[in-house]
Amino acid sequence: MGKLWNVAVVGATGAVGNQMIECLEERNFPIGKIKYLASSRSAGEILEFKGKAVMVEELKHDSFEGIDIALFSAGGDRSREFCPSAVRAGAVCVDNSSAWRMDPDVPLVVPEVNPHAIARYTKKGIIANPNCSTIQMVVALKPLHDYATIKRIVVSTYQAVSGTGKKAIDELDRQVKDLLQGKPPEIKVYPHQIAFNCLPHIDSFGPNGYTKEEMKMADETRKIMEADIRVTATTVRVPVFYSHSESVNIETVKKLTVAKAHELLKNAPGCELVDDPASKVYPMPIDAAGQDLTLVGRIREDESIETGLNLWVVADNIRKGAATNAVQIAEMLIEKYLK
Ligand code: NAP
Repeated sequence: MGKLWNVAVVGATGAVGNQMIECLEERNFPIGKIKYLASSRSAGEILEFKGKAVMVEELKHDSFEGIDIALFSAGGDRSREFCPSAVRAGAVCVDNSSAWRMDPDVPLVVPEVNPHAIARYTKKGIIANPNCSTIQMVVALKPLHDYATIKRIVVSTYQAVSGTGKKAIDELDRQVKDLLQGKPPEIKVYPHQIAFNCLPHIDSFGPNGYTKEEMKMADETRKIMEADIRVTATTVRVPVFYSHSESVNIETVKKLTVAKAHELLKNAPGCELVDDPASKVYPMPIDAAGQDLTLVGRIREDESIETGLNLWVVADNIRKGAATNAVQIAEMLIEKYLK
């Protein structure tokens, strides 16, 4: 038997943390000891790992003794405060929050796109997992960029409420039920009703009029693709539980035909081509949810410019957009880098 690794899941009780546990189980990650960490509110709660009870402990600075890999998904403040403690205790952190993503000494990794970047984890002991909407976009665009060099991306997102965590999933569920019974919806998580509505507002607005989520898509895409691509994004929250959808328009240096794009995406790692509109076949959130592939379809040339293409890209934001990507990074770490 190969080496077994001690893993801490920080934010184990959350939407992403729960999914991380499931991914570690499903992918048979070689676990020695597993530790679940969350806030004091959840301390003592019992979760499972492969059918065995594991008690949730309160996240503290001394929680990481003997831990090899710490998977963080408990919000940026916790990552900023506790990743250094985990590293000091000897763990490598894979962080799902935005805390370290743009730090030049922290690699920002999508295994299908820039696996080589993991090697730079030694600088701070931290590897950042990108934003969910960025991950699925770069998985779909990398093979097209390698062939035709993308100059500019215009993206509009249709993002599921699970991207905001457990409380938002409950809020959509409750609002739908209340509205269907003629009751006024309770609004707690979002600034407006999310049921039967769309909010062009994810995270806070900056001085340039873009939201933080929109700027993340631009900045993170350039860092991961290691290319000076111009990106403009509009991010929208929609009343869908799981899976983000994206309308992506790219302008390329070299002409990219639909046939060539199909050929490139058919065999691209992490992608599934779902593109037969004549038969009503295209990517949809209900099909992407619960699996790890990024679905790409509705591919057509942009007739308004010489070298442009439109795509519709859908993936499960909790899996490939967060938990699966983090566990894939951990798999690469133990395979290639950790001893
Ligand atoms: P969530 O469902 O709200 O879960 C939050 C987790 O953080 C819970 O386990 C919570 O523990 C824990 N936590 C909160 N405050 C804490 C504290 N003071 N000390 C220790 N633990 C604390 O949120 P989520 O959607 O899983 O997101 C978690 C992180 O992943 C965020 O940084 C988010 O930006 C990132 N992320 C989310 C997605 C997504 O699609 N949802 C995608 C990419 C990245 P309690 O249960 O004890 O409160």
